Amino acid sequence: MDMEYKEDEQISGLDTSIRPAQFSEFVGQKEVVSNLQIYLKAANIRSEPLDHILFSGPPGLGKTTLARIIASMQKGEFRQVSAPNLKRTGDLVKILSGLEKNDTFFIDEIHRLVTPVEEVLYSAMEDNQVDITLSEGMGAMPIQLDIPPFTLVGATTRPGSLTAPLRDRFGIHLRLDYYNEDEIVDILKNAAVKWEIQCEHEAMIEIAKRSRKTPRIALRLLRRIWDYAIADNNIHNAVINLYIVKNGFEAMQIDHLGLTALDNKMLQIIAENFKGGPVGLKPLSAALSEDIITLEDFVEPYMVRLNLLHRTSRGRMLTKKGFQHINYAAPATTQKLFYE
Ligand code: ADP
Repeated sequence: MDMEYKEDEQISGLDTSIRPAQFSEFVGQKEVVSNLQIYLKAANIRSEPLDHILFSGPPGLGKTTLARIIASMQKGEFRQVSAPNLKRTGDLVKILSGLEKNDTFFIDEIHRLVTPVEEVLYSAMEDNQVDITLSEGMGAMPIQLDIPPFTLVGATTRPGSLTAPLRDRFGIHLRLDYYNEDEIVDILKNAAVKWEIQCEHEAMIEIAKRSRKTPRIALRLLRRIWDYAIADNNIHNAVINLYIVKNGFEAMQIDHLGLTALDNKMLQIIAENFKGGPVGLKPLSAALSEDIITLEDFVEPYMVRLNLLHRTSRGRMLTKKGFQHINYAAPATTQKLFYE
């Protein structure tokens, strides 16, 4: 998987020092935050943990951060696991049996749970109970294990891939959206203060413009650009200016829209090898030597959002804007309708 898109990537060892610890430090997503605050307040007055929550939205927008804030507001522990690591029901039961009242249990990529594990989760979410079998074979003894009231927070980049029974067991569904440029600049400013990076305002705006409106990417870009500033000036407290930013982005092959070499290559392959599409993800994955999940979850959503690419029932198609972005003339003879 391309490093640019690695899901569980830490921005750096310093990541935890800049992760907002409370709502007041969390920039943007105003509606999501204000709803969450109301639900938390009501749950607190009822002396119950918050209802189970499903967060959806592209990676790097703050789902884990919000789950951690919820845990600290409920004064419980925060437990975290990624669904692909819950291979067997026993893996889940082990975590559930260790939960205490008011804990927050965060499952990332929850759409990737395997069915038997998902079924154990149903009864834990609904009845605070799980059935377990103590030993195998003839002497197998099924017993019921009580789980204290807890909050499950599920995060997914693909809410449509959740099964209906799982989706219905979440009392709260909240969708995170891309940030606007001002919000990204605010996030960068806060990080620069904490990391003691000196960065001129115009330089921050340029980083925000190329951040795909995603905090995780913006923060990582700030650190990489900082590397260029230090290396260029040979001093630790080098000031980041627009000149350094532009050169840094050129070196990293990140264009003015924030598209990486891989993104642009995908557009190019659709134009050149597949006459603009429609083309399925499988042939694209083969042509780009990237796995389908990377393309679907990390590469294409932002290009769809920018209207460079369309998802149709027959596959991916370049839009006119997509052709223009790679300086490629849309095939004139084609009967195909290219989207505006
Ligand atoms: P997700 O779980 O959606 O992939 P994370 O919660 O891990 O995203 O956030 C990625 C990074 O971006 C973290 O370092 C976090 O500190 C930062 N971040 C995300 N959202 C915000 C925000 N609204 N304000 C400040 N920092 C944020």
